[in-house]
Amino acid sequence: MVEKPGGSENYARNVPRGLRKRQLQGKQKQVDSVGAGVQTNKSPKGRSGAKKKLTPMLAQYLSIKQQAGDAILFFRLGDFYELFFEDAERAAPILEVTLTSRNKGDPDPIPMCGVPYHAVDGYISKLLAADLNVAICDQVSEPTAAPGLVERDLVRIITPATVMEEGEGLRQTRQNHLTAMVRHEDGIGVGLATVEISTGELRVCLAPSLAAGREELGRISPREVLFPPDDEELGELARGMTPAASPRGVPDARWALQVDEELEKHLAGRAEEFSSAEQEALRRALAYIAETLRGGFAHLRAPVRYAMSDHLLLDERSRRNLAVVEGGSGTAHGSLWWVLDETTTSMGSRHLRDWLLYPLQDLLRIGERLDAIECLIESPGLRRELVGPLKMIGDFERLVARFGVGRAGPREAARLGRALEAAAALPGLLGEAGDSLLLVGLAERTKSPPGLGEQLAGMLADELPVHASDGGVIRSGADAEVDRLRGLGRDAEQLLAELESRERAATGIASLKIRHHRVLGYFFDVTKPNLALVPQHFVRRQSLVSSERFSTPELQELEQKLSTADARCREREGQIFSELLEAIGQQEPLLAAQSAALAVVDVLVALAEVAHQRNYVRPELHRGTSLDVREGRHPVVERTSAAGSFVSNDVRLDEAERQLMIITGPNMAGKSTYLRQVALITLMAHAGSFVSAASASIALTDRIWTRVGAGDDLVAGDSTFMVEMKETAAILSNLTSRTLVILDEIGRGTSTYDGIAIAWAVAEFLHDFEPAPGARAKTLFATHFHELVALADSHPRVVNASVTVREWKDDVLFLRKVVDGPASRSYGIAVARLAGVPDSVVARARELLRSLESGDGLGDTNMRALGGSAPTAQIELFNAAKDPLRKSVAAIEVDTMTPLEAMNRLHALVAEARRDES
Ligand code: ADP
Repeated sequence: MVEKPGGSENYARNVPRGLRKRQLQGKQKQVDSVGAGVQTNKSPKGRSGAKKKLTPMLAQYLSIKQQAGDAILFFRLGDFYELFFEDAERAAPILEVTLTSRNKGDPDPIPMCGVPYHAVDGYISKLLAADLNVAICDQVSEPTAAPGLVERDLVRIITPATVMEEGEGLRQTRQNHLTAMVRHEDGIGVGLATVEISTGELRVCLAPSLAAGREELGRISPREVLFPPDDEELGELARGMTPAASPRGVPDARWALQVDEELEKHLAGRAEEFSSAEQEALRRALAYIAETLRGGFAHLRAPVRYAMSDHLLLDERSRRNLAVVEGGSGTAHGSLWWVLDETTTSMGSRHLRDWLLYPLQDLLRIGERLDAIECLIESPGLRRELVGPLKMIGDFERLVARFGVGRAGPREAARLGRALEAAAALPGLLGEAGDSLLLVGLAERTKSPPGLGEQLAGMLADELPVHASDGGVIRSGADAEVDRLRGLGRDAEQLLAELESRERAATGIASLKIRHHRVLGYFFDVTKPNLALVPQHFVRRQSLVSSERFSTPELQELEQKLSTADARCREREGQIFSELLEAIGQQEPLLAAQSAALAVVDVLVALAEVAHQRNYVRPELHRGTSLDVREGRHPVVERTSAAGSFVSNDVRLDEAERQLMIITGPNMAGKSTYLRQVALITLMAHAGSFVSAASASIALTDRIWTRVGAGDDLVAGDSTFMVEMKETAAILSNLTSRTLVILDEIGRGTSTYDGIAIAWAVAEFLHDFEPAPGARAKTLFATHFHELVALADSHPRVVNASVTVREWKDDVLFLRKVVDGPASRSYGIAVARLAGVPDSVVARARELLRSLESGDGLGDTNMRALGGSAPTAQIELFNAAKDPLRKSVAAIEVDTMTPLEAMNRLHALVAEARRDES
């Protein structure tokens, strides 16, 4: 007879494909080991009256699977998590486990696979790494001997941003953000709410435009993004950021009430602070937490609202170009973060990363950080004394958050106790740092909730189980009732031992032993040869190949006593542990604030340590417009170079005379390094760090733009040149008077004359453009187009600088020193030779160069080969033919001059040029 699927359409739609077929065929078997053989009247929605029912377990599975949505459902069966149907088929190859079937022999078996519950973390992380989410269904009632199905419930959905364990893929020193985005009511702005579930941190901001939203999302670089299903633009933005981008509508009705209550709590008395888009984004982020963590709000901190303009801005490319938090390898190695990260705890490391991503604009706050670092540099003893407790404190922030989401057991509680005890030393130490307001303030904020550490240490045993239900959680002597119940248990054990020896003597069976079995309980074990000696009052329980198992009324009575004592003891221990969790829960806001303060202490100590080790100085930030760095060093290149080999350089920029610096010099001379070091020093100063220089006076800067090198953006489908021009366009249309612009080559990706023309025009624009009356952006512009040095002749705020190089025979020596004045020539051919380009090619290049320099050109054929256009274009652009100075320069035979002759000639040329100017 054919079984019809239940009446509800809805249900049928949610039944996995394989099962629907099976139902129609009316084939089914009992598959639940726990509820095996039990047919209940409970049936899935609309299935009443069907003759053949789903097994209770499958019905339970399906209803839970419905809640799990797309996530792969891990269904707890005894000591395993089992996966069924398509979930099993999808996951088995990723988990590298065998795909089997539950009801082998059936013509249409149910595919399944399983993983042991104690090793589940590793399997979950494999699925997350494959961009799949995981839903965990646990047994929520203890299996009993009574017939009936074990209660199971969906306890958590694990997605990339909701992982709570390192085993699940949570990275120690990286934030793990989830961002919800919604459009502002003006249709232009974007509200972003970001939550770090592993710490409970909440932040919201309103990006004033879609482009700004993209930038902010790039800075947050969330693991997961939620966007409204009907907003294609936001969807595109989200998908460009992470594969874990999901459309989410209004919160599901199941959570709506809970979410609204939580939102109200967070916004109480501050609602006007937040725009409607920010509130809505926050609501959606909370709804996602409710759905995935099934509540899990307890650890969330009050949302912090920020404006993008509160921080020094860097677009994503600039952040990458400057290797702020990621080096070339895509990891922290080789980045500014890597150089500065002398933190002791991973929460400190994460906070430092945050400081570098969100440099400040508030001189007061920057000053506070600098004061604190200065104070810590001056007291090496204090630094050492702080590091000791910090090591013990560890990742306090994530530890505390685990209590909030109900994922903390006895071991976490003990760790918290130890951390709190270690933290007790900090307020006293910090309170003495009288010269720093920040440190003194931290002394207050690092204070532990009174008595909590002692309470935990006093109550918890030294050796702890993973789960409180395993018993042995409470220290002996800590609770009279636990001690009494344990005593009862010990007495019963003693009585067991006595019974064993008594019966051994009475029966004369020398090998008689009392043993324990999980199901059978206690029994006398009698080996086959001794069976004849078994007395009357022994009741047979079980026969094995080599022995038989017996019980006696006395043994049963004792067992009863023992298990009662044990059960009552566990119950009492469980109760005490819950009270401890309750006590921790009540302190959650204080603990969260304390963890943030502890992380800041760690960062400050680290920055002081680096500054001390690497001779960094305190920068002076000001509201003026000049930038004056003496003996600056690139912090990363310095760190990776041999000690003392990095050549320091000065930079001076201001609005009136040195607004745009054109830097020339051969490849490999050190131009890019110089440019980047200026940007990095500026950024470090705004983050509140000391800087790699002998002295630094830095104008408050609202944005650093860099356009460095070239690379195809294949994802966006742009060629190298298109990328270069888009970046240039973005820079030129976003200038403010507080912007620092770093241009490393413009116009390289097109033909020479095109390139020069563009570079020239861009430089002119940067020189002339006034974002505010009399105020202009400062620019460092490195170029291999030597022609650009002529800009200084006609543009008063352009200065030429070059990286010095000494020629020695046919080789070049890089001196790495940046000096005012243009580079004398391009040493490209010498560099080519250094790099090992074959001699014949080098010789031919020299010949062609000579021909070019003497004004003969390369001849038609050669120019075509180079893809060049008519040389007249260049001459027109720079009017070189009419320039006598240029003629004098062209006449110089550099190859045959001694260094002294060269210097003299240079002097003469400079004098000639100045004469022309006056
Ligand atoms: P360019 O941009 O002129 O081609 P780079 O800035 O890339 O040159 O520098 C080339 C290499 O020279 C760098 O990788 C770095 O190792 C080294 N270098 C650059 N500047 C310095 C310096 N000031 N001191 C020591 N080494 C430097």
